Amino acid sequence: METLRQALEQAETRKVAIGHFNVSDLVTLKAVFESARDSTVPVIVGVSEGERQFMGVRQIAGMVRNLREEYGFPIFLNADHTHSLPSAMEAANAGFDWIVFDASSLPFEENVRQTKAAVESLKSIRPDILVEGEIGDIGSGSEIHDAAPDLLKGLTSPAQAKQFVQESGVDTLAPAVGNMHGLLKSMVDGDTKKRLDIERIRAIKAATRIFMTLHGASGTDDNDLRQAIAAGMTVIHINTEVRIAWRHGFESALAKQPNEIVPYKLLPQVVDSVKQVVTTRLALFGGGQRVHPASA
Ligand SMILES: [Zn+2]
Repeated sequence: METLRQALEQAETRKVAIGHFNVSDLVTLKAVFESARDSTVPVIVGVSEGERQFMGVRQIAGMVRNLREEYGFPIFLNADHTHSLPSAMEAANAGFDWIVFDASSLPFEENVRQTKAAVESLKSIRPDILVEGEIGDIGSGSEIHDAAPDLLKGLTSPAQAKQFVQESGVDTLAPAVGNMHGLLKSMVDGDTKKRLDIERIRAIKAATRIFMTLHGASGTDDNDLRQAIAAGMTVIHINTEVRIAWRHGFESALAKQPNEIVPYKLLPQVVDSVKQVVTTRLALFGGGQRVHPASA
């Protein structure tokens, strides 16, 4: 079975990106896994500290491992936005493939210092685990926001990215390149789209030669996403679009079956609603990347 690092290397070589989708329940996990299998592309499941507190760190790790083993399918697990070392170590001990150690709210030197310490501690638990660091400001929660943050102030510079990568020893980098967590109200219906700084992505990739992850990609212009992948983004995070699809699917299930109380008769509509989003995004990111039957 291929490792996450091998999947990233393959995606980079083929100039495609791997989709990363956050989950906080079995319904979303099922939808993400089924979409990836239908599309025959590898996939990454992410759980933030809040999401894994709800699901249970070892429980979600067990579910993803069971899917990978039962189906022989490249599905990987990421501890998204982890703000403390004990929480990162808990995920590493539970078998996560990847940890996003997020000290980006701290001053640069302190971010480097804490991220470097996290890389060393996590690799001592599992040498093959990947660790991501973050610099710049891409806003907070994957929710619907009233007002736009000033993203220009927190953009990542290529020189700073290079220094951060060299000094911290991270495997992957989450830069701020116009991306933002969550959606503005005007983006929910697609009236406005997020736009990315493609030249900045290209420059950071050239300066660091590291795998890069685009966080907060929900609601981003499709063509910007294609260009971002061509410029060096290897993983793309989608959370808010999934959450909106989950809610719409659930509302529609309740409206269609107002007297139904059996969860497994209501929830398939939520699975279908989430699958539509995930499958559409995977088609955009994957550009024909396929899991070969032999390696699947
Ligand atoms: Zn994120």
